[in-house]
Amino acid sequence: MSVSRRDLVAGFFATPALTFLSGRYLSAQTSEFPLPLTPACDDDHEIKPQSAEGPFYKPQSPLRSNLTADLPGGVRLRIGGHVVDRSCHPVSGAIVELWQADANGQYDIVGNRLRGYQISDEGGRWSFNTIIPGLHTGRTRHIHFKVQRSGGRVLTTQLFFPGEPANDRDFQFIPPLLIEIEKVGSERLGRFDFVIA
Ligand code: FE
Repeated sequence: MSVSRRDLVAGFFATPALTFLSGRYLSAQTSEFPLPLTPACDDDHEIKPQSAEGPFYKPQSPLRSNLTADLPGGVRLRIGGHVVDRSCHPVSGAIVELWQADANGQYDIVGNRLRGYQISDEGGRWSFNTIIPGLHTGRTRHIHFKVQRSGGRVLTTQLFFPGEPANDRDFQFIPPLLIEIEKVGSERLGRFDFVIA
């Protein structure tokens, strides 16, 4: 069964299956969502563009979706979406891995701070609690991801933030990799749907 963009938007964040969401959010979000549609797979059925892995990837990041537990400061960002294939079918069981700089633009190259992965659920949903990354020298604001379904190719890419002055100066920036951001109180909600092979 195929999933329409409207289904994807309506289903995301409103589902109690996202057990890692706080009760506060679940009650608040059903009325405050949906976010605007993202350029999802109905637009072109194209796999999301790859982007450079960069120098700070480390294998064997921990399985977790909350990256803020021991992290003081930073603007909280809840980012999530779906993993779908080119036919808009949700991909369950995909590995979604995130790594990013902290609020000061620094990567944790020794430990696993602001690194983690999770497995997309039966609806292809993924979500992380993290922070807005700071600016790393020479780059615009971005978060790194690797996404892979069982037996599939790894999509290594970066997601970018709208309205960043440095976007146009960063040769790695491309608009299809923009996160949709919404401000909710002191936090930010980000949406992105990965289309993978
Ligand atoms: Fe980076």
